[in-house]
Amino acid sequence: MTKQLVGIAASDGIAIGKAYLLTEPNLSFDRVSITDPEGEIKRLLDSFERSKNEIQGIREHVAMAVGEEEAQVFDAHLMVLADPELFDGIKNDITTNMVNAETSLSTVANMYISMFEAMEDNPYMKERAADIKDVTERVMAHLLGVKIPSPATINQEVVIVAKDLTPSDTAQLNRQFVKGFVTDIGGRTSHSAIMARSLEIPAVVGTKEVTQLVAEGDMVIIDGLEGNIVIRPDEETIAAYKQKAADFKAQQAEWAKLKDAESFTKDGKQIEIVANIGTPKDLTGVNENGAEGIGLYRTEFLYMDSEDFPTEDEQFVAYKTVLEGINGKAVVVRTMDIGGDKELPYLQLPEEMNPFLGYRAVRISLAETEMFRTQLRALLRASVYGTLRIMFPMIATLNEFRDAKAILEEEKANLLADGIEVSDDIQVGIMIEIPAAAVLAHQFAKEVDFFSIGTNDLIQYTMAADRMNERVSYLYQPYNPSILTLLKHVIDSAHAEGKWVGMCGEMAGDQTAVPLLLGLGLDEFSMSASSVLKTRSLVAKLDSKEMEKLADKAINECATVEEVIALVEEVKAAIS
Ligand code: PEP
Ligand code: MG
Repeated sequence: MTKQLVGIAASDGIAIGKAYLLTEPNLSFDRVSITDPEGEIKRLLDSFERSKNEIQGIREHVAMAVGEEEAQVFDAHLMVLADPELFDGIKNDITTNMVNAETSLSTVANMYISMFEAMEDNPYMKERAADIKDVTERVMAHLLGVKIPSPATINQEVVIVAKDLTPSDTAQLNRQFVKGFVTDIGGRTSHSAIMARSLEIPAVVGTKEVTQLVAEGDMVIIDGLEGNIVIRPDEETIAAYKQKAADFKAQQAEWAKLKDAESFTKDGKQIEIVANIGTPKDLTGVNENGAEGIGLYRTEFLYMDSEDFPTEDEQFVAYKTVLEGINGKAVVVRTMDIGGDKELPYLQLPEEMNPFLGYRAVRISLAETEMFRTQLRALLRASVYGTLRIMFPMIATLNEFRDAKAILEEEKANLLADGIEVSDDIQVGIMIEIPAAAVLAHQFAKEVDFFSIGTNDLIQYTMAADRMNERVSYLYQPYNPSILTLLKHVIDSAHAEGKWVGMCGEMAGDQTAVPLLLGLGLDEFSMSASSVLKTRSLVAKLDSKEMEKLADKAINECATVEEVIALVEEVKAAIS
């Protein structure tokens, strides 16, 4: 039966396709006494063989579709499977205890996993424990006849249905086959949603229950424009959505005409519309969508995509590639923002009750200064290849900014002393994403070269509403007069000191927010590349003076977010 579901629209576009369930497999089993150990050993051997063939297949696929380096993880899995000690251990356990292969596999594998995990200070051993866990799950799945989903190997058109997608799951998705995704949890600013936008895959998140309602292979429609999901649609509904998809395509073609234009309001005020990226690979989307530069390069993905800390040279190559790939336009590189939902397996961070309020971003950089210095040196060396701006994330106090900047200056002096060229025109700024920094913006503005407002975090901290939690997503209110008042203070403070202000949180590309932000005087709007053209088109229809009045009214006369939305809708209705 057809079923409709509403979630949060996370990435524009319509996808219609068969569901590929990316959910945890059920690997539970019973302990069973057996009388035929040879039969069990044969089952075990078959499952090992099948796992080996499967992993080899995945390895080849990942090497081709993603890269050789990413594929090497699977070599470690193959080594585990080829280890005679593991296989013989399980075999002996079967004959000694006369139990089924599932029981012995679990007993012996768990013994190895605990042993490796106990070697706490040795990240290499911890990784081996993770490899054994992965391999054991796969062999167990074969013993039980259960499917283990593997997004990297998808080779026909599907839409993915998952509880959640980690940033690394999202990075593995092949755009050719994955037409869209829908999840139970998450919000518009969770990193899987952000990555969906940079991959330009339609997505709806936070439906709470889609994985309960969809079976493998069911037809699913994902409406990333409005956040609607239709499960097992009838022919008529499919036809209606095909029409909606065609209309959206036509609209995109219209926007594409603005690709090489600059961004002006109707009355001729110029602003900058730039893009957010996670890796140098995103440059294609940035250039295709005519962004006027890069307002946020999230460098933590460089760390997350790597097996160990990226070296200075590896980082240098990535930064240089980005600086050279954007035709001299400015690139704002944010120093690494690990923590929160962005984990780094080889950086052993203690478990925290509140990771979003914990040890993350510049807090780690200022404590692990060697890692920070390596990143800064790579950036400084790359600075001569384009227009580099450096930005520190999660700044709460002026002292943090001063400390970070002092380290940057030291590294610059060291490089110059070694005869290495460094640009003498690097602006240094901060993210405004912690309310304390927003409130004190008038002091920060005296010392920084620019602000970039990180509304994804600023809103969650101001409203005390987790950006990843769909249960409190109703509190995630970018247009709440309280947020607008805070933004006004930040923007006015920067301008009073002659500094520019950008916004790299998702709010910058939000079509309801754009008129308000224009009115508040924001200089630079940084967003997913896929939002650039529609924003440029919207801005061209707006009068900057009118928008000033709108923002003023929203701040001074509105008490609720609904009132603000109503005001903006009135303005938008008048221009369309
Ligand atoms: C933000 O917080 O708005 C931001 C841009 O940073 P991130 O989404 O990476 O936390
Ligand atoms: Mg942030």
